Amino acid sequence: MPRNKRRRSINYDTSYVCDACGERIVIPVDLSGGEHQEYVEDCPVCCRANLIRIEFIDAEVHVEAKLE
Ligand SMILES: [Zn+2]
Repeated sequence: MPRNKRRRSINYDTSYVCDACGERIVIPVDLSGGEHQEYVEDCPVCCRANLIRIEFIDAEVHVEAKLE
């Protein structure tokens, strides 16, 4: 998936590494959801639920995933 290099967009694509199967999963994130976001998402590869934690720090996106 090509990376969007525009910096002023409020929508980012980011990625996390599934805690169950180790695959890198690209996900869209929406800055309008707040600086700290947490939600559960099923891995499209192995279907295990990951708890996704997203933080925006100085316009950088930090993502963490843990098995639920
Ligand atoms: Zn997985």
